[in-house]
Amino acid sequence: MRILVTGGCGFVGSNFVRLALSLRPEWQIVNLDNLSYSGNLENLRDVESDPRYRFVHGDINDYALDMETIGQCDSVVHFAAESHVDRSIYNPRRFIETNVLGTQTLLECSRRSGGKRFVHVSTDEVYGSLPLERPELRFTEESPITGNSPYAASKAASDLIALSYHRTFELNVSVTRCSNNFGAFQYPEKVIPLFVTNLIDDKTVPLYGDGKNIRDWLHVEDHCEALIAVLECGVAGRVYNIGGDNERSNLELTHSILDILGKTRDRIQPVTDRPGHDRRYAIDASRISDELGWLPTRSAWPEALANTVKWYTEHEKWWRRLKVK
Ligand code: NAD
Repeated sequence: MRILVTGGCGFVGSNFVRLALSLRPEWQIVNLDNLSYSGNLENLRDVESDPRYRFVHGDINDYALDMETIGQCDSVVHFAAESHVDRSIYNPRRFIETNVLGTQTLLECSRRSGGKRFVHVSTDEVYGSLPLERPELRFTEESPITGNSPYAASKAASDLIALSYHRTFELNVSVTRCSNNFGAFQYPEKVIPLFVTNLIDDKTVPLYGDGKNIRDWLHVEDHCEALIAVLECGVAGRVYNIGGDNERSNLELTHSILDILGKTRDRIQPVTDRPGHDRRYAIDASRISDELGWLPTRSAWPEALANTVKWYTEHEKWWRRLKVK
């Protein structure tokens, strides 16, 4: 099978490419990425000479290029996106162009190429926010879509457009909605690599608001294994939640990182809360477990977090160049 991966030079995409090539020797991967600030060829240095892998430099909004690359492939796994909530607050338009229009362009090309299998990588942020006072609540695939930040709203729009291509044109689309990922190669503006790299430099870590916001953390490779399961066995038109059943408040996460690096609590610098900051995300991932047999298999928190922190301490050359951008 030949797969077009979009955004394969980013955090989740590069982990997917590496894992897919190692778990599926019969697969070939074409990676279409425009190398925006978070896309980095370094992330895939170890596979670039693999004959089953090919990089194509380009933008998903380039219709002719999409037609050409999709035409060479059997299926699409679509990661390419503007992905940082804070950036979406300062420049929302970019998020609409890439996440909404770019996704529609790819879907249209998949349809016109004879109907290619399409996995749209969405996020739990499309469900909006749960109240801290109702810990029993979790997002199911039937929860209403109410993305609150421009990032989440643009992902919600692309998620619904992907599903509309199934309902309207019978395109073989599945959508995944995953919780927060952690692991290697995450751009150092996101909370875990940002805090770890700040602390290595003996700086403070900026903690939003009261730090009580809760996220469900999943190792990026577990997310990627779930995507392989959805690509291979997912049902057309179906949505699959993916989560780690691993809820942590931002304050708890920060304390864990400080402890792992042997730093004191006075490194925490409280900062004004992010506008519209969602309070809690929690995922019910029983559908993908029951129907596709997927379960997370990476080591449990906090060991998995410690391994990720260690990766950043051992790959300073990788992140130092990106921190100054
Ligand atoms: P990232 O910012 O690290 O990677 C995005 C990649 O897309 C980069 O390689 C970038 O160069 C590429 N890209 C951006 N605009 C492009 C364009 N117009 N044309 C071609 N390539 C373009 O983001 P990430 O964290 O790896 O997220 C990847 C996908 O996974 C996103 O769709 C995101 O919504 C989804 N997701 C991420 C998480 C997470 O925790 N990181 C969780 C759930 C879902």
